[in-house]
Amino acid sequence: MMLAVLMAGALACPASGLAVAVLGSGGPIAEGRAGPAYLVHIAGRPRLLIDAGPGALLRLGEAGVAPERLDAIALSHLHVDHAGDLPAILKSANFADPPARLALFGPDGRGLFPGTRQHVMALLGEQSGAYRYLADWLAGPQPRLAITDVPSGDPDRPHETLLVDWPDYRLSAIAVHHGVVPALAFVVRSGGATAVLAGDQSEFSAGFDAALAASRPGLLIMHHAIPEGPGQPRGLHRPPARIGAAAAVLQAGQLVLSHNMKRALDRQDEGLAALRQSYAGPVSIAVDGACYAASPPQ
Ligand SMILES: [Zn+2]
Ligand SMILES: [Zn+2]
Repeated sequence: MMLAVLMAGALACPASGLAVAVLGSGGPIAEGRAGPAYLVHIAGRPRLLIDAGPGALLRLGEAGVAPERLDAIALSHLHVDHAGDLPAILKSANFADPPARLALFGPDGRGLFPGTRQHVMALLGEQSGAYRYLADWLAGPQPRLAITDVPSGDPDRPHETLLVDWPDYRLSAIAVHHGVVPALAFVVRSGGATAVLAGDQSEFSAGFDAALAASRPGLLIMHHAIPEGPGQPRGLHRPPARIGAAAAVLQAGQLVLSHNMKRALDRQDEGLAALRQSYAGPVSIAVDGACYAASPPQ
């Protein structure tokens, strides 16, 4: 018990207000960071897991956070670096007594990718799921895993879909452009403070900028997957200059760079200079385990 308390303290999230712990600050390549995973804290208590990249279960354990204690898991998209640990997390939560219940939010399907419900059925479905031994999560008229497919259809249209509306926080989603992949950004609001988790998105995500223009989030987490300059997959990710442009449009109180890939970190000085052309606020490059408060706008 003492060990769990000490490990939970390692996240160093504040005891009040809205804060986000970065459990995984890496991308899809084995470069020494866990894949994207963010633990949203309200008044010091972990409530939401946003993304479940490889290593998320390990980082939850290190932090002393039992996944069955969370309200929900929200997946920005179904790339393996963002969703790979989902079945392992559900397996861990299956040891809870009484049996755990969780809400799961993720994008609907379009073309190349199944929607979240179909993705989970391919994993846990009783008849043909790869992990059908965990099918009890989906059993009965009110399954313990309550899945919602969130509209991801139009990244040009500024539209927020409200997913959770509880007295102490609200969670909503905005469709973003990430190549052909259905993808979402998430917004958490609590007590006058806002945290925006931009997810994997390219600069062709006009609806994101428009929906959140001048929203003044105390915390904006954006993904630092590519360096500035030509020859990069800009149809999938924002280069640093376009990250800075979004942070400026939103008037973010602080910007945290995550999904840090070596190719971007190797040219970090050039990237930060490009980002600084638009955004003058505080910028941090996240490491696994860091926690960031989302302060209300002054
Ligand atoms: Zn990614
Ligand atoms: Zn992705």
